[in-house]
Amino acid sequence: MVSKIGINGYGTIGKRVADAIKLQDDMELVGVTKNTPNFEAKLAEKKNYDLYSSTKKRYDKFVEKGYKVEGTLDDLIDKVDLIVDCTPAGIGKRNKKKYEENDVKAIFQGGESHELTDFSFNSSINYEKALGRDYIRVVSCNTTALCRTISRLKNNFQIGKIRATMIRRGGDPDQDDRGPLNAIKPKLEVPSHHGPDVQSVDSEIDIETTAVKVPTTIMHMHSLNVEVSKDITKEKIVSTLRKDPRILLIEKDTGIDSTSKLVELARDEGRKRYDIWEIPIWVKSIEVTEGGIYLFQAVHQESDVVPENIDGIRAMLELENSRGKSKQKTNETLGIGE
Ligand code: NAD
Repeated sequence: MVSKIGINGYGTIGKRVADAIKLQDDMELVGVTKNTPNFEAKLAEKKNYDLYSSTKKRYDKFVEKGYKVEGTLDDLIDKVDLIVDCTPAGIGKRNKKKYEENDVKAIFQGGESHELTDFSFNSSINYEKALGRDYIRVVSCNTTALCRTISRLKNNFQIGKIRATMIRRGGDPDQDDRGPLNAIKPKLEVPSHHGPDVQSVDSEIDIETTAVKVPTTIMHMHSLNVEVSKDITKEKIVSTLRKDPRILLIEKDTGIDSTSKLVELARDEGRKRYDIWEIPIWVKSIEVTEGGIYLFQAVHQESDVVPENIDGIRAMLELENSRGKSKQKTNETLGIGE
């Protein structure tokens, strides 16, 4: 059976999840909502995605501008089994009531609080616990990256405390009002919220984080330190990480030593929007010392959560009960790990 899915909020995350749904054979994209009749709405129309407005008032604006609009969010909700809510942080909370009243399942994004759904999701950690659920939250781009790498290490080695610093992009490439422009801005609330966010997915992970913002738009970077038992070698860590297609090991002799070169690689590979769904980790940066494992990983903030949304849909609608099979299907359709 093909499940019917709607996207509420066709922005940075929403347009990527919409395109990913189109690649699946067990789900169908019924339509997308837009708040503003802008270039993204025009592009959705060009792709033959059915367009809905977020409200009735907005509907009239779209019609005035000559858009073909199928209805409002309420009409979209009537036609679907599940909504992927990709509206800006905080708006999902307002929408949840509407989903509940209409008995429709929904996925929220990392900008919403854990408390909204009481279930924070990462397919490498708690896929099975999402089976059949009505509401889940796919954690943020940074938390998704931490969850992927840490769960891989935790499932294969005896790990202890994790300390991580997030070097965060100032804004996404289209966010021309964000910063800093010429500064490094530390998050003075220490530890940062990222550690507790990881623990909202797996409470057994012992992690403390700090964060700074820097003037870049393309990717985040994480510096990780993981305490481990003494018998662990760099070789064992590398071979364990290599087995996960959602982790991209950057080999020593590639000349890729920055986020800008990673983006260049993605562009040269012809990846749509230069998306990097995998978490790139520099092999050279992986070292084991008395202090534990050290490594650097990069995060393409606009796309690493996309496969998690697809797996989340499969789990909630019980289209696939096996985490491995869902992840494999998502990986193959998106071209992850190729
Ligand atoms: P965005 O601003 O790029 O897109 C949001 C979309 O929702 C826009 O198309 C906007 O027009 C539309 N919208 C605005 N108000 C609306 C409303 N009331 N009803 C319906 N649509 C409305 O935002 P985004 O970056 O895609 O973020 C969406 C969610 O994903 C947030 O929770 C965010 O924290 C999370 N997230 C973002 C990133 C990232 O790097 N951008 C990464 C991971 C998670």
